[in-house]
Formats: sequence, C-alpha cells, structure tokens
Amino acid sequence: MNSKQQVPFLDLVTPHQELEAELTAVFQRALKTAGFIGGPMVEGFEAEFAQFCGTAHCVGVGSGTDALRFALMAAGVEKDDIVITVPNTFIATTEAITQAGAHAEFVDVDERTSNMDPEKLAEYLETKCVFDGVAGQWVHRETGRRMKAIVPVHLYGQMADMDPIMDQAEKYNLVVVEDACQAHGAQYFSRRHQQWFSAGSIGRAAAFSFYPGKNLGACGEAGAVTTNDAEVARKIRVIRDHGQAQKYYHDMEGYNGRLDSIQAGLLSVKLKHLAEWNAKRREAADGYNQLFADCGAEVITPYEPEWSRAVYHLYVVRCADREGLRESLGKEGIGTGIHYPIPLHLQKAYASMGYREGDFPVTESLAKQIVSLPMSTTLTAAQQELVVNAVQRAMSAPLCEPVGD
Ligand SMILES: *Cc1c(COP(=O)(O)O)cnc(C)c1O
Repeated sequence: MNSKQQVPFLDLVTPHQELEAELTAVFQRALKTAGFIGGPMVEGFEAEFAQFCGTAHCVGVGSGTDALRFALMAAGVEKDDIVITVPNTFIATTEAITQAGAHAEFVDVDERTSNMDPEKLAEYLETKCVFDGVAGQWVHRETGRRMKAIVPVHLYGQMADMDPIMDQAEKYNLVVVEDACQAHGAQYFSRRHQQWFSAGSIGRAAAFSFYPGKNLGACGEAGAVTTNDAEVARKIRVIRDHGQAQKYYHDMEGYNGRLDSIQAGLLSVKLKHLAEWNAKRREAADGYNQLFADCGAEVITPYEPEWSRAVYHLYVVRCADREGLRESLGKEGIGTGIHYPIPLHLQKAYASMGYREGDFPVTESLAKQIVSLPMSTTLTAAQQELVVNAVQRAMSAPLCEPVGD
C-alpha cells in the first residue's frame, strides 16, 4: 500500500551501522580462535551484564524463552506445580512454564500499568489455595497441585509493582521469577527497602531476552538469567549444557541452550551503550507525553508511577478506535504494532484450559485499545511531531470515510 515509511516502527539498522567496526571485530576475533561456544567472550559478557543489573550472577543462554524455562527449573519448579502469571504477555512466558512441566494460572493486570495487579494476585491466592498440613505446602484447593512460583512480567519496559508481589510470595512460600525480557535497565523503587532496584535483581531469578528488537539485542538469538543465588546459577549452567558440569558426565538430562560466543561478544559491545539508549527512549517517551498533552488528542498515554523508571521498550497508547487509528497511521507511512492483540487465555493454543471471554476483563479491554507507536533510539523530535499530528488528525476524522472518493 505505502512503500514510503516516514516513521518506521523501530530502527534496528542505524545503531548497528554506527557500531559496525567494533561489531565486525568481534566476528574476526572469533574466527581467529574458532572459539564459538563458551569461553572468555561469554564469561566476559555474563560478568558485565550481572554488574549492569546489580546481581551476583548472570548465565548466558540461547534465548529469553530458554532463560525463563531454565530459571523456573533451577528455582525448583517441578512437574504439575502451579506457576502464576498474567494473560497479557508474549506466549513465551507460558510456554516456558508448561515446558518446565508446570501449569500456568492467570491473574489479571492493573489497568494503568498493564502489569500484574498485586490485589488480584492476593485475591487469587486467598481464594484458590489451602495449606496442606501434611505436605507442609500451599496447594490449589480444587486440583491439589502445589503452588510454586509467580512470574511477574515487566511489560513494555516498566517493572511490575514488586513489593506487594514479594509480600504475597513470602506469605505463600512461592518463588518469584521475573520476566524481564522487555525491561533491561528498568528501575523500581522498593518502599520496603527504601532503595531503587534494577529489573532482574528482585526475584529469585530473572529472564532476559536479547532478541534483536529488545532494548539490548543480539545479532541473532540470545538470552540470559540473572540471580543472586549461587545455587540457581550453578544449576542453570548445567541445564543449558546437556545436564553436565563436567564434559560427558551427565547428572541429568538438560538442553542445548548455551549462549554463542559471537553473540556474547556483540552484546558486550552494545551493552556499553545501553544506559545511553535507554535514556534516549525515556526522552522520546517524555516527548510523546508532552506533545499528546499539548494537542489534547483523545488517547491515553503510558502511566509511570513514582516508584518506576521505565525504559520504554515500547510506547503504548490506548484509544477507542484502535483499528481506525492504525489504518490512518499506516496510510501516512507511520509504523505501529499491537502488543498483544489476543490475550493468552483466549489463544487457540490454550483452548484446553477452558477460559472464556470475560475471564480477565482488564487484559481483554486493554487488548482492544492498545497501539504501540514508533519507538527507537534514533527517533527524532520531528518524527514524533509527525506521529502525534497524524494521531490527532486520525482521531478527529469521521469514523467512516465517504465511499468513492
Ligand atoms: C521477547 C520476550 C520473551 C522471549 O524471548 P525470546 O528471546 O524471543 O525467546 C519472553 N517474554 C517476553 C515478555 C518477551 O517480550
């Protein structure tokens, strides 16, 4: 329809062009030693990323999905356990839970932040669990399955409200694994501890994705787990490498889930720029907020509580006629996305879970209203003005255009 993209949804080309010499040097270094798996580039990146997140350990793995699955397994999730998460996330969150052998159960999100609603979590735990005195653990009232873990998702680059989530986890003896796949460098102010924490440093472990479009992206597939727990880190190193701590001595079956040396080297180059790139995204978000406030367009802009410093992996607005808005923007060459159009509980893949429309009303209504606007580290103020002006025009246009123009 429109070949000329005035404002692309995201710009992955420019940042790599700017770093081309440094990035290709990584490849050349790898060719010289043929060290493609493990080795100093992986260890180097792991140490740097742990430091960035403020954790004692980081273990590089093959993807964010691997990171989630391995983190759950290493944190003690076993077959038939229940792991609680939200229905408005990418399917990898629940794939990892299922593939770790557990059952995903959902709680709805907070309408303003799109993240796990701690009150809904408390209500779920209060109504669905009982303490099994014989086994000494909390179990699901109806199925008798062990309640084991909570996976809060830091969606769009903003952390979930972790204090009350950690309170519930303590009360019910659950482990928390953060899905930080969209939140590299996001910060949370803990009222309990009176200090700021980085995404990935609060739960027992956290999963990061370095899929190319993420705030820190590899030039291919990659992921990592961060943790302060040495035993969890050790287990993940074994799980990612076919269950061996020593070559050909397999204590268990594991996975082929290692981080490539080349990807680790490329990530080290890019990690040096992450703080500056995140600052640019925050600046762009401020720019959008200001422009929308000034023009009075009827869109709801992202909500950032005082305890949050978000890194805007995505800049998501809400409006009544989402499809109309997307179409108008598309005609003007402005790229948009929807994250995500179908809540997980209504996906075909989960039909057997027996959920229905209406089960998670906040997630469902958000899914109908959300539009992700262009966001990248190279987005200019002029491009943002184009976007906001186009949104304003689209919103004030009649819903149905006259036919036969
Ligand atoms: C990207 C993403 C994942 C999965 O990461 P991959 O590296 O693609 O496996 C998991 N959860 C969320 C919220 C994500 O955005």
